[in-house]
This record gives sequence, C-alpha cells and structure tokens, in this order.
Amino acid sequence: MNISNLIFIGTGTSEGIPRVTCLTRSDNFCIVCKDSIIPGSLNRRRNTSVLITKKINNTEEINIMIDVGKFFYESAINLFPRYSIKKIDSIILTHTHADAVGGLDDLRDWTNNTQKEIKIFLRKKDLKSISSSHDYLVKRNKQSGGGVAKLNFNIIDKEPFTIKGVKFIPLPVMHGPYLDVFGFKFGNVSYISDTSLIPKETEKIINGTEILILDALRPEKTHGTHFTLEQAVEFTKKINPKITFFTNATHDIDHLKINNLLKKETPKMQYAFDGQKIKIKI
Ligand SMILES: [Zn+2]
Ligand SMILES: [Zn+2]
Repeated sequence: MNISNLIFIGTGTSEGIPRVTCLTRSDNFCIVCKDSIIPGSLNRRRNTSVLITKKINNTEEINIMIDVGKFFYESAINLFPRYSIKKIDSIILTHTHADAVGGLDDLRDWTNNTQKEIKIFLRKKDLKSISSSHDYLVKRNKQSGGGVAKLNFNIIDKEPFTIKGVKFIPLPVMHGPYLDVFGFKFGNVSYISDTSLIPKETEKIINGTEILILDALRPEKTHGTHFTLEQAVEFTKKINPKITFFTNATHDIDHLKINNLLKKETPKMQYAFDGQKIKIKI
C-alpha cells in the first residue's frame, strides 16, 4: 500500500455551519455560528465529503471524492487551489440526500474546462433518484443547452470495486430506520459519514481498520438518522482503531472545546475540520 492523502472537503451537517438564523438573532444564542464566520475558524463547516488523492508518478495523481454536496463549490474554491487539486477523476456516492449530491451540477466547470468527463460510482437506486432530481445530468435529451456536467455513471452494489488501482469495499449501514446507505473501506481507512445503525456484518468488515471516519452529529440529542457523539464514541471503543475522526457535525459542536474534552478518551478520537489533510495508506 502507498502513502496517500485524504482531505476533508467538508465536515458539517446538511445545513452547514453557520446557520444563517443564528447570525441574524439579536441574542447570543449560538457562539459556534458566530465564531464560524471569523476567517480561519475551525467551526466553519460545509457538507460532509472527503477527497482521496494518490500520486501515480512525479507528474500524475488521481483524485477520488466521496460525495459532492450542496456546498461543494464553496469548499472547492477554498481548498482546491490550496492543495493544487486540478482534476476530479471519480466521485463515489454514499446516498442521494442533497448534502451528498447537491453539487453534481457544479462539476460542469471541470468537464467543460479541464477534462472530458467525471466517473460517478453509485448504486442502481441512487442513479434512479438522480435521474429524477437531476434528469438533464443523466439523460442527454433532457438537456436544454450545452455546457452541463458530463458524468459517466457506473453502478456499484455490495461487492468491492476498484478505481484506478484503489480498492473500495462498500460498508452498508442504516441512515434512519428506512434508508440504507453506503460507507466505504479503502486501504487502512473506514469511512461512514451518515449512519444511525451499523449492522454486525458491516462491523466485521470494519474490524482491524487503522483510521475510522465516523458520523457524530452532536452530543446527547438523538436525531434518528445519525449517530450522536456518545454513540460514535462507543462504536470507536468497540472497533479500537489507531485514530477516529468524527464528521457531519452540527453547530452544537464547538471544535476546539470538544476536541480538548475528547483528548481524555482512548483510542485517540477527534472531530475533523474542513480542509484537514491526513496521511492514509491505499
Ligand atoms: Zn448556530
Ligand atoms: Zn443523508
């Protein structure tokens, strides 16, 4: 396995941090949202997504993203120049909520200007959902003009699949009582961005993972479709990886404050922040 990098494109929940109405209130209701608009604040969070970037040789690298949410454009403005990310080879989708697919339309910039197409890896039912939410991206005859993103859809199921030599193992999990979604294991990483329940069979695949990236919406209050921080801590202790990065956080998470508290826990666990870059083995 080669040493590569993973960049957190976004670590926030669907609505993003700040919540606009927290900024427009006249009381001091939310210190996290107010802090998040200070330049460089680690509380500024866009939709949850990661980018895996692997060097092939001195001049070429491959870039694979997981999810492309509503705030992808803003994440990309912020992070792609900083990390010199010039192209997106493939995107794998966990599910089709707006915070996972809302940025599909913005991919036109790359397919119009730097590359022919972007490969999208998704389940059959997710392609069906995108065919109705973004019909013009799937069916050419629905396009009213040129210039839309050229996406090449590839169907995945529970079987492992490979993108340019990187093997991905789907991790089926529940995201609320009715919706099954995917996380993915690749190299020494297991990534689960949206879950309320991780079945035993999936837990078996995750066992032995070195880096766990896990949904941890907020402390205490259950939501029904996401892990609370307490559930995420409990699952982390069960799996016992070298390190866990929590993601998909609401404005209830004050980044530095909560990470300071989490320092007491074993194994090592921390909330990730937008733009954080970590070394992985793939
Ligand atoms: Zn707030
Ligand atoms: Zn979702």
